[in-house]
Amino acid sequence: MAIAMRNTRKHSGIVFVSLILAAILIITSAGCGSGSGSGGTPEGGTAAPVSTDAEQPGTDGPEAPAEEGFTAEQLAAAHEQALANAKMDAQPAMGQAEVAPQGLLLLVNKQHPLQSDYVPAELKDIKYYASDRSASTRYMVPAAADAFHALCEAAKEEAGYTIVMTTAYRSYGFQQILWNNYVNKDGEAAASRYSARPGTSEHQTGLATDISAPSVNYRLTNEFGGTPEGQWVAENAHRFGFILRFTKDGEPITGYIYEPWHIRYVGPETAAEIHALGITLEEYLILLGR
Ligand SMILES: [Zn+2]
Repeated sequence: MAIAMRNTRKHSGIVFVSLILAAILIITSAGCGSGSGSGGTPEGGTAAPVSTDAEQPGTDGPEAPAEEGFTAEQLAAAHEQALANAKMDAQPAMGQAEVAPQGLLLLVNKQHPLQSDYVPAELKDIKYYASDRSASTRYMVPAAADAFHALCEAAKEEAGYTIVMTTAYRSYGFQQILWNNYVNKDGEAAASRYSARPGTSEHQTGLATDISAPSVNYRLTNEFGGTPEGQWVAENAHRFGFILRFTKDGEPITGYIYEPWHIRYVGPETAAEIHALGITLEEYLILLGR
């Protein structure tokens, strides 16, 4: 990656600009209405029996030279650009050959859809899942699957928590069925805040998964974010290369309400950086000049 961590000194700069960005986010997102606390099961979750049980980056060293991190001005500009991008109409769908080089940083959102025939080159079985969900979704690309297994095993070993996937890879056709159901139930405008039109779901990339835990009866609910398991995921997912893709403050950029259950694989270095900065993937890619 172009901006892989070169050394640990970068983080003191990141912490500083994070504080500034946090202030900007608080100011700009006030009153946006994330819908948190609704406690629904927006992605179609139902109670599920489970089939299987399942470092912070260093901050020492001298002060980081300015050129090694992002400045407050860069972060503010990326935030403004991401907000503007979120208001754009969808761009023409890209083909698999065009998106493949983006690898783990593949951006799929309302403005960047995948073609209906996009299927990851390789998918691997997920071991830890809620058993009453569709078996057709129990896959991720191999690197993401391995990382998810490591996350689940660490949650169990370090804290005694059981974390499982509910749905991971979804084909375009599967998403089409979900989307149609939600539009019929809630109308298109409401559905578009919690569900993705076919082609615009990260689940089609094989890099994302929804997760849950016994404490919320394996549902997809905002309550998960307040559980010990959900808090553990929020604090530790980046160690395994995952980010929380739809944060409480992110809706003006991502277009989706807070989803503490949806994690996206981007690789450990990128995830650590996004976690430390407290920004969305959209903003991060702008900072990278993509
Ligand atoms: Zn999801």
